[in-house]
Amino acid sequence: MSFNSLGLSEALLRAINKKGYSSPSPIQEKAIPPILEGRDVLASAQTGTGKTAGFTLPLLQILSQGAIQRRRPVRALILTPTRELAAQIFDNVKDYSSFLDLKSAVIFGGVNQNPQVSKLRQGVDVLVATPGRLLDLCNQGLLSLNKVELFVLDEADRMLDMGFVRDIEKVIKLIPAKRQNLMFSATFSKEIKKLAHGILNHPVMVEATPENTTVEVIKQKVIRVDKAKKTELIIKLITEGKWKQVLVFTRTKHGANNLTKKMMAGGITAAAIHGNKSQGARTKALSGFKDGSIRVMVATDIAARGLDIPLLPHVINFEIPNIPEDYVHRIGRTGRAGASGEAMSLVSPDETTFLRDIQKLIGMTIPSELLEGFEPDPNASTEPIKRQQQSRSGSGRSGGKRNSDRAPKNGSEKRKTKKRRY
Ligand code: AMP
Repeated sequence: MSFNSLGLSEALLRAINKKGYSSPSPIQEKAIPPILEGRDVLASAQTGTGKTAGFTLPLLQILSQGAIQRRRPVRALILTPTRELAAQIFDNVKDYSSFLDLKSAVIFGGVNQNPQVSKLRQGVDVLVATPGRLLDLCNQGLLSLNKVELFVLDEADRMLDMGFVRDIEKVIKLIPAKRQNLMFSATFSKEIKKLAHGILNHPVMVEATPENTTVEVIKQKVIRVDKAKKTELIIKLITEGKWKQVLVFTRTKHGANNLTKKMMAGGITAAAIHGNKSQGARTKALSGFKDGSIRVMVATDIAARGLDIPLLPHVINFEIPNIPEDYVHRIGRTGRAGASGEAMSLVSPDETTFLRDIQKLIGMTIPSELLEGFEPDPNASTEPIKRQQQSRSGSGRSGGKRNSDRAPKNGSEKRKTKKRRY
């Protein structure tokens, strides 16, 4: 199928051409036509599927067909959980609207609000926002959402994990009841269905990939390792394998910082990305990682979620996640756009239960191996690390006074490890 047959305008086709896309991705093929028809859409798609263009292209087309209002009130609102995602979506909006007379802006917390406010004052058709800063500006009377025609809720599952459900409800109250809604989520839990029911109006359901396809195409491996030897092992793997762009996951912010320091001491350029890092530090780390000046990025789950890093060859779980679904999100960063990737998990005896839960979720046993000199002590305890000692790190809250790394309301303790749809 070609983009021409999706009913997109000449200006959008030019922008797509400029981006170099030759054909629509499955989610774009399925989501664009019903959105153009004005239908609400509930889509199951994770980052890497091309979902951003899937909602941005038809949204821009709809807006460009309507009359431009003199004061340019916000007509499309795209709500997303993290600052990085907001920035990435905004970049996409700018690219795709380069041949249209539409203005866009992005707002998120952790940075001075003044430049964002002055941008809003100039009039904005499409606003990309994280919930916290959006509500802050609305509460200060600096932003009005009463002319919103299109509402996009991106990464809805992560929104819930990060405790944004109340904020979403507040946003819904600020936008007109008559509007078109698009909701994207990688997983479909009971909570997501409930949220969708409250927001969407007879939605068309679209799915990017059949269940667990992502998991099956990615080469996965477990290395059973002594906990105390993990750092030495990861440095050896990266150095000897001459790996260039490696995304490493830890469970905690502290763990990410520690590992980054040790990598640097071991001669590997590395940067940590997590919720305690300033926006500037995170942006710098991400661009260094993309341009190759930083070889390893050490990330926590929420901070890494949604980062647009195409063609990532290596993902290493320095610590495997205690939330099985996070494993799927983590390894999903490798098999992008048909490129092959490898996901490796360093598993110490105390993570045995976490590994069992992950394998149950993905419905397969991940091949495991031992490396000479790094084998775990056969007598080591397989007692899991106490869950309450772990923190979930990320970039959830987008500004203001609250803690940016809130504990998930629907997180680890409450989640079941049942098979989900991806
Ligand atoms: P997303 O899932 O929206 O984060 O997109 C993942 C990546 O795929 C981004 O780098 C996009 O620029 C890219 N992309 C989106 N649509 C297409 C397409 N039709 N063909 C090739 N690449 C695409």
